[in-house]
Amino acid sequence: MKTALIFGVSGQDGAYLSRLLLDKQYAVHGTSRDAARQPFARLETLGIRDRVTTHTLSTTDAAALRRLIDEVRPDEVYNLSGVSSVALSFADPALTRASIVEAQTLILETIRTQLPSARLYHSGSSECFGDRPFGTASDEETPLAPRSPYAEAKADAHRATIAYRERHGLHASSGIVFNHESPLRGETFVTKKIVAGAAAIAAGRAADKLHLGDLSASRDWGYAAEYVEAMWCMLQQDAPDDYVIATGESHTVEEFASAAFAELGLDAREHIVSDPSLLRRAELHYSRGNPSRARDILGWEARTKFHALVRLLAGAARLQ
Ligand code: GDP
Repeated sequence: MKTALIFGVSGQDGAYLSRLLLDKQYAVHGTSRDAARQPFARLETLGIRDRVTTHTLSTTDAAALRRLIDEVRPDEVYNLSGVSSVALSFADPALTRASIVEAQTLILETIRTQLPSARLYHSGSSECFGDRPFGTASDEETPLAPRSPYAEAKADAHRATIAYRERHGLHASSGIVFNHESPLRGETFVTKKIVAGAAAIAAGRAADKLHLGDLSASRDWGYAAEYVEAMWCMLQQDAPDDYVIATGESHTVEEFASAAFAELGLDAREHIVSDPSLLRRAELHYSRGNPSRARDILGWEARTKFHALVRLLAGAARLQ
């Protein structure tokens, strides 16, 4: 039986990855900053809370990291921890940096010194590409041009991962992951905000207006439960590498809102208010990935494209 250790198990991806690995008969360990008080709601939702061994760990605590790696002796390590919101990263750049760059550096160094046979996945981000010209698809060779503290940190952690692979021969791979959504997504992300808002309006539980920021921003949105499959596939390869994980399609927030409201029997134009106070300082207007390498080498492809994803998310929101 293989053992996996997931840093940041309480988030959306941690929950789906745990389920995937349990289905593959792994022993799954996961960390969170405060496992004793953390409700692990997402693991509960997936019905797997009792099957994941959880540990309290701050990923910036070098001694605790060493102890945990020594105790668990994982075959595979997945680092999904750290600040995950661009908006929060503007509010607290130092925390963002520590939770992403310092944590990834310590994880790399701990694996190098304690357990160099372990394979490591790092969750990088499409945010690192910055604001791309309309229509272009980013791939693994696209230069990084981060525009937020979150993206700067993800870019540095990505580069550190490559450096350890090249300098020390670690089996360390980085997923350059585009936006990936699910019913487990946090409320601060726009897809969840839209479907939850539309469902509340449809059920008469909320005022009939939903305030949004930039409606013209365009994203490559996929389904999180499939993206964790790509993470696992990376660690099954003989050689580590970096992979763009995306659908290859980009749609605007407005398109998403129109489709989601329509799924719930509403006309978005009657309910959406474009609110200037929600506009971002350094917006990425266009984002789209080219997942060819993942398809050709990992055999991974996004199966849930835009319209199926909207249906899935809106359907789940109706039941919540
Ligand atoms: P991100 O791409 O990782 O920042 O994911 P988000 O889901 O937070 O945002 C996706 C896009 O939706 C960004 O371009 C936002 O500016 C845009 N957007 C428009 N209105 C809103 C809103 O009310 N909330 C959020 N979170 N994003 C919004």
